[in-house]
Amino acid sequence: MNRIFLKSAVVAFSSLAASILLALIIVPALGGVVDGNAWLMLTICPLAIAWPASAFTFWQSEKLKRTHLELARAHAELAAAHVKLEEKSQRDPMTGMLNRETFFATLDLSRRKTDRGALLIIDADHFKKINDNFGHLTGDKALLEIAAAIARAVRSGDVLGRIGGEEFGALLTGATDEEAARVAERIRREVELIRFEPMGERVVPLTVSIGGTKCRSGANVSDLMRAADKHLYEAKNRGRNLAVLDQMSTAA
Ligand code: GH3
Ligand code: MG
Ligand code: MG
Repeated sequence: MNRIFLKSAVVAFSSLAASILLALIIVPALGGVVDGNAWLMLTICPLAIAWPASAFTFWQSEKLKRTHLELARAHAELAAAHVKLEEKSQRDPMTGMLNRETFFATLDLSRRKTDRGALLIIDADHFKKINDNFGHLTGDKALLEIAAAIARAVRSGDVLGRIGGEEFGALLTGATDEEAARVAERIRREVELIRFEPMGERVVPLTVSIGGTKCRSGANVSDLMRAADKHLYEAKNRGRNLAVLDQMSTAA
């Protein structure tokens, strides 16, 4: 408010100075004399008109600036909320991993960029039994433990997704065959090491079976999924708690 008062005072006194200057030039040039009443009008008019008019203009302009700032802030908040919402829509709400669509879209994008890396499909073993024996909520807890174990076992830069109820996908970015086998074994082992005690009395074993394949050139997402699924099927058939990759398998 003070700023508006001072700024409009500057305008009002500038108008006063300009009006006196003009009167002193124009009136004598027209043969007149600037006398007492003229001086009064010369002083009062600019002050009475310019001061409130400029104060109103400055007040409006400040209001406009404030509205602009508020709009910019609201816009930034909206943009941040949009980013958050988009990020949320790509994630599985339970585990925080990418959801199925986003995982496959990421895999597809990676396929277009490079022929390196490997895909693992990780499926919890006999998970139905956990639900049947301890209930669905305990099953959820077990699933979260498994998801956390998988996240601990992969390398930074690898991409994880929940591609089914008790099924996860891992895109091992740029991994060689050996690295892929090492990570798969680390996942298998990390899950096996979970001490899951739903009733607090005995440890319920949790294990996963893993099928993996390398991202060979020319293979699209469906080809890779088919190959990894075939190996997963083999791992299940060979007794579970096992990782089967293209030419090797790891087990406890
Ligand atoms: P397999 O070793 O052959 O994979 O046996 P499985 O019992 O794990 O496989 P199956 O496909 O027969 O059953 C999967 C079970 O996983 C059944 C389903 O209720 C459970 N499941 C899937 N999603 C969730 C979930 O979000 N929470 C819980 N608690 N259970 C889930
Ligand atoms: Mg299963
Ligand atoms: Mg399954």
